[in-house]
Amino acid sequence: MSGHKDQVGGADLVVISGPSGVGKSTVVHAVLEREPGLRFSVSATTRAPRQGEQDGVDYHFVTRAEFEKLRGRGGLIEHAEVFGELYGTPVAQLEAARQAGQMLLLEIDVQGGMQICRKFPAALEILIVPPSLEALRERLAGRGTETAAAVARRFAEAETELTVARRSGVYTSEVVNDKLERAVEDVVRLIENHRRKR
Ligand code: 5GP
Repeated sequence: MSGHKDQVGGADLVVISGPSGVGKSTVVHAVLEREPGLRFSVSATTRAPRQGEQDGVDYHFVTRAEFEKLRGRGGLIEHAEVFGELYGTPVAQLEAARQAGQMLLLEIDVQGGMQICRKFPAALEILIVPPSLEALRERLAGRGTETAAAVARRFAEAETELTVARRSGVYTSEVVNDKLERAVEDVVRLIENHRRKR
């Protein structure tokens, strides 16, 4: 990483993780609107696009072979398998942010957060948490499109992810997503403090 001496340690990286159903994408989108100096890291994934998702904007949608090729040539900063699909952060995202003088915001899972922590110890890592486990269960059920068994399974997975994230010691800041505005405010403040310390 020659030529990036000032950023060794990854102080220009912000990682946001949180269990499924906690509303982290909503928080992330609102934070990005508030902070022009932040760039959203567009991950590569093998999962199929959902309705309304755009290739190159939400994700780079790739085949397994393309993903493996990218990983094989050292093109990913971190990667993980989530619910049977592959996800990874392209090195090119970091390079583009650095070229533009922006901080890079990664919305990734806990396995990815741990890899970033090892490689870039100066990254700011934030965990978005629900106000309570009961609230999380209600939010997962509230989508209303799934069977009770599916909701129970998703809740168990989300609870495990929360436990693993807390035990990892990687997330030095937790933000409770009770009221959206408040959560956004908290994340923005953490980023601004972090930026000042760089
Ligand atoms: P979804 O398929 O719902 O968009 O994302 C599923 C999970 O994968 C979420 O927890 C999301 O944060 C995570 N994720 C998205 N992109 C990446 C990535 O590049 N790396 C890792 N490790 N996780 C990712």
